[in-house]
This record gives sequence, structure tokens and C-alpha cells, in this order.
Amino acid sequence: MSSSTAALPEILRGEGLPNFEAVTPGAVSAHIPQLIQELDAELTGLEQQLGSALESGTPLSWSAVMDPLQRLGERLRWSWGVVSHLNGVCNSPELREAHAAQQAAVVQFGNRAGQSQVIYKALEQLQQQGGALDAAQQRILSAELRDMQLRGVGLSGSEQEAFNSASQELAELSTRFGNQVLDATNGWTLKLIERDQVDGLPTSLLDQLAQAARQAGDSEATAEAGPWLLGLDMPRYAPFLKYSRRRDLREQVYRAHVSRASGQAGSELNNWPLIERILTLRGEQAKRLGYANWAEVSLAAKMADSEAAVEALLEELRAAAYPAAQQELEALAACASRHGAAEADDLQPWDVSFWAEKLRQESFELDSEALRPYFPLPQVLEGLFALCSRLFGITIEAVDGEAPVWHSDVRYFRILEGAQAGSGAGTPLAAFYLDPYSRPGSKRGGAWMDECLVRSRRPDGTAVLPVAYLICNQSPPVGDTPSLMTFEEVETLFHEFGHGLQHMLTTVERPQAAGINGVEWDAVELPSQFMENWCYDRATLMGMARHWQNGEALPEAEYRKLLAARTFMGGSATLRQVHFALVDLKLHSQWQPGSGQSPEALRRQIAESTTVLAPIDEDAFLCSFGHIFAGGYAAGYYSYKWAEVLSADAFSAFEEVGLENEERIRDTGRRFRDTVLSLGGSLDPKQVFEAFRGRQPSSEALIRHSGLVAV
Ligand SMILES: [Zn+2]
Repeated sequence: MSSSTAALPEILRGEGLPNFEAVTPGAVSAHIPQLIQELDAELTGLEQQLGSALESGTPLSWSAVMDPLQRLGERLRWSWGVVSHLNGVCNSPELREAHAAQQAAVVQFGNRAGQSQVIYKALEQLQQQGGALDAAQQRILSAELRDMQLRGVGLSGSEQEAFNSASQELAELSTRFGNQVLDATNGWTLKLIERDQVDGLPTSLLDQLAQAARQAGDSEATAEAGPWLLGLDMPRYAPFLKYSRRRDLREQVYRAHVSRASGQAGSELNNWPLIERILTLRGEQAKRLGYANWAEVSLAAKMADSEAAVEALLEELRAAAYPAAQQELEALAACASRHGAAEADDLQPWDVSFWAEKLRQESFELDSEALRPYFPLPQVLEGLFALCSRLFGITIEAVDGEAPVWHSDVRYFRILEGAQAGSGAGTPLAAFYLDPYSRPGSKRGGAWMDECLVRSRRPDGTAVLPVAYLICNQSPPVGDTPSLMTFEEVETLFHEFGHGLQHMLTTVERPQAAGINGVEWDAVELPSQFMENWCYDRATLMGMARHWQNGEALPEAEYRKLLAARTFMGGSATLRQVHFALVDLKLHSQWQPGSGQSPEALRRQIAESTTVLAPIDEDAFLCSFGHIFAGGYAAGYYSYKWAEVLSADAFSAFEEVGLENEERIRDTGRRFRDTVLSLGGSLDPKQVFEAFRGRQPSSEALIRHSGLVAV
């Protein structure tokens, strides 16, 4: 293999750790078209081969169908994966342009392979000879067949034409929906010029508002003297509602925010017709595919069995959250009354954030900035690695310099089994890159885990070990001061590391089901959210939280505040998610065009039991619900809560054996590793969960962790 690939350009090597330096914008433009052309020709060759085998009735084998398909897909994933990765972490105008120029061809190739009739028939034939295949192979095959069906491969003639043109229209409608939300958000501003209009705002927000004013032409604007430009984007809108003492301005900005893109006040930006069209088209697509509605299409590829199962869970959460949310609202009113505020008897939606922040400060005095010195990155990593050793029996060691990196801040680590700390001996299992710091201008915001190499076996029988990219965006070290993290950033690191663990500790050697591959969308956040729970575990947190200068432990009072803050306003937060999830689900199962009931009327009906403050008249939240109308969450918004049930319930297995009982924590940790982290997509997630927990998931732990009481 190495001799035949030696002459290939680096970007087309298709295996091993990438040499990032060689993946230049020029190489992308020069070689990705060549790759697509080759893959296209190979796919055609494979289709011909499979076509004649099908015609002559020759039985097909896994190695004749799935292996070549996997190799084709892997070559694309490896090359395009490196390009996309660099586009996220080392962006430049040249790379962005080279990436964008090739994207359509890459997507088109994926569509072609995913809608190939010959390949579909070959997979079907392979499935019929079931006996020769193991359980993982069967699951990979049915997932592949299901995905192709949902892409319309089973349709023909005019039905397929109608399906394809509706898919096209839906894609355009989604884009328009998203753009109109963006335009409506950007199209509203309010210039504040008097000092009393910014009463209560923190310096960081005044900075932002003055900067926005400068960008809009007030070149003299300063944080101290204004003018300040308010807008509807989250970084300006959310803190304004939280801190502004001017109730009239809070009301004004709230009303503008909830009526975005709904055609009110003569605006041309109106998403209502788009919403009805999108829901109508999705309903028609579902019927073409043989389903009753779009909710059924969405659930066909998820862990949740049925709409009834999702509704049952949402009702458990709603019943627990509703009375708590009512009490929380009363507590806010009481807080307002203590401060002698006129609105105490008549709290409105634009008062909630403000009084919640006041009450939070009074109850906890938790200053998230003040905790940073207790969480220097090197110490947090030590704590995280010690936890992984304690739970999963693995050793993690830095091996910087052993792999090429894309930036000098990037570190490289290896995961070993059976190693003595510091000795380096032991069996390598996996490796990961960690790119911790933000680089404004060249690195995408947020945090994520991505696959560099996926566990598999080469044709010669040797193993390919998994390698992960772990990307965060925290503040870089300054001089001798290490990167000091907020508690939220610590949680984010643990979260992404949980995804990484599932990718890296997999024992599945078929890449289609290794790690996170083949794991249902509503189950994939289980390991990540599970790891977040450990940030609140006393031993884990106190083990790593020490002042970076004097080594002092995090004061007990601060730890208690962190615990209390976790469940503050927990009823309202849960109820809000239940409202969104239920509205999404019902719009995609119950709403019918021409029924006389508008989508908004349906939402308001659901709001009667899922909100404690009814939506105001202008509230047109659906017109900016991008998750379901411009993103991939249609009839899937419930997944957030579904996966949280799994992760909380998994963590409660550790609580049950006692978080201080080292021996049983170790046994439970090993079992988590051998099931959830190891089996990936090779088994039904319900079976994986049951193998770990000994029973089906229960919402009891999530309700308790949210500070609520089950009803
Ligand atoms: Zn995640």
C-alpha cells in the first residue's frame, strides 16, 4: 500500500495522521476535483459490477459490496475531513474560498451514492442472506437501507420527480427562513444616548454597545459616554434583558425580539407563509415515503420508538416542572416586591430575566469570573485524566511532537491501557489533538469533537487506532499566567471529552458502527453529558480546583454555590424546553394544511399547559424557530431532553453505588466503558443502555438533578 501511494499528493493520501502543512488552498483546488472524479469513476465501476452480479443471480458478499463502498467513503472522509477541519481551525480567505468552491461537488457525490438504485438492490440482497452476517453487520445494513429509503431511493417515475423537486424546494425554503430571521434580527436597532437609558448595564455590555455604535457610524462612541447601539442579536439582547433597570426599554426590545420575521408593523420579512409551506411539503414527503407524517419519518432513524414514547417523557418532565416554574415565578415577584418595584404584582415576560438575575446574585453571589484562578487548564486536564483513569482504567499522556499539528498551541496526547503513570509502557488504544485556545479571525467559535481517524482494520490485518480532534475556545495564556477557565468552560471541555471517549474507546472495528458512527441522534449526547456530571462531583472538582498561584483549594462555600446555581430556575428551564419540543412534535404530526387551525393557534393551545406566563399577542416565536425550520431538528427537538434522561440516569448508577465507594465506582466505570463507550453504533441504543444499567432508562435522575420532584 505505501509504495503505491507514495507518489500521491499529501491531501489524497487517505490514511494515517495528516501532514496539515501540505493541505494548502492550492492543493484543495488542484486535487479535490481529481479525487471526486476518481471516486465517481470507481462508483460507476462498482455499480456495473454489482449490476451484472444481480442480473446473473450471483450471491453477493459483504466484501464485494460493503468493503468497496466503505473504502470509497473513507477516501472522501479522510481528504475532505482534513480540509473541513482546517477550514474550522485555521481559516483564511483563500482556504474558505477553496473549500466553498469544492463543497457542492462533494455533496453531489454523496447524494449520488446515497440514491443509487443498484447499490440499494445489492444491499437488500445482502440483507436477505442474513445468516452469514453478525449483529453489527445487520445493523449497519439496515441503517444504510433506511437512510437510502428516506432519501427517496425506493420511489420511481413521477413520484420520484415530485419527491426530488419538493426536497429542492424545502432546502430553498429553509435557507430563506434562516436569512429572513437574520435580516429581521439585524434590521432592528435602538440608539441609546442618555446615561439613564443604560442604567444597570455591566461594563462588558456597554463596551459591546459602544462598539456596535462605532461600527454603525458613531465613530466617537465610548462605553462611558455613549452613544450605545442596542440590537436583537443574542450577545446584546440577552444581557440587556438581564441587567437593564429601564423596564420600558426591556419591554420595547422584548416585543421587537419575539415578533421578528413575522410581518408585523408592516415588515416585509414574514416567515408565516414559509412555515405553512414547509410543514405542508414535509407532510407530503412523508406520505410519499409511506409514513403518516413527518414526525414518523424523523423517529424512524432515532432511539425513541414512537411519538407516544416521546410524549410520555415530555409529560413526565412537564408535570414535574410546571409547579416548580410557578413557584419560581412567585419567588421572582417576591424579589421584585422586596425591592419595591411597581411590576411586582404584574410580572411580564420582559421582567423575568431581570429579576431572575437579581435573585441569583442575592442567593449565591456567584461571580463566575472570580472562579477562574482555580481552574488553570493544565490542572483541569490533570483532573480530567485522573478521572478517566479512575473510571475507565486508562492512562493519558502527553506526546507532543509525535504528530504534525496545525498550530503551535495544539497538543497531542495518547491513551494507553495497563500503563504505569509516567512510565509510558502499556498498550496504545487511541490518541487525540487538543486545540484549547480561541484565535479570533481564524478559528470558528464554540467547542467540538471531530474524527481524525476511525477505528478499523487494514486489509493486512493490522489495526488503525482512533484519533480525535478536540477543539475548545478558551482564553490563551498571558505571559506567565496559564489559561484560566470559567466553570462553564470546564464543563464544555468535559462534554467534548465525553464525545472523544466514545470515539476513542470503541472496540468496534467496522468503521460504519465504530465510536459515534451509527449512534442514533437522540442518543449521541449520552457520553458527553454524562461527563459533565462529574464536574459537580466533590472528589473530581475539589481534586482539580486549586488556586493557580498559592495552591489553595476552592472554598467550600463556592462549591455549594456552584451546586445551588445548577438547579436555579430549573423548573422554568425544563418547562421551556418541553414547550419547544412539544410544539415541534405536534406541528409535524398533528397540524394539517387547510384544517382552519394555524400553526400559531396550535402552539398557543400547547402553551396553555407548558408556559406559566402566556405568550403575549405579538409573540411569534415560530417565525424565528430556526432549529426546526432552518436546521436539522424537525420533529427532533425533543432529543436534547431524551439524551439528558440517558446521561443523568447513567450517572445515577454511580450515585447508587456511592460516589465515595472507590471499588464499586471502578466496577461501574468499567461497565460504562464496556457498554456505552465500547459498543458505539454496533447495537441498538436501548440494548446498550440496558447492558449498562440493567433496565430501560428512567427520567427520575434527570428530574432530581434539575432540582424538581417527580409527579
Ligand atoms: Zn455534544
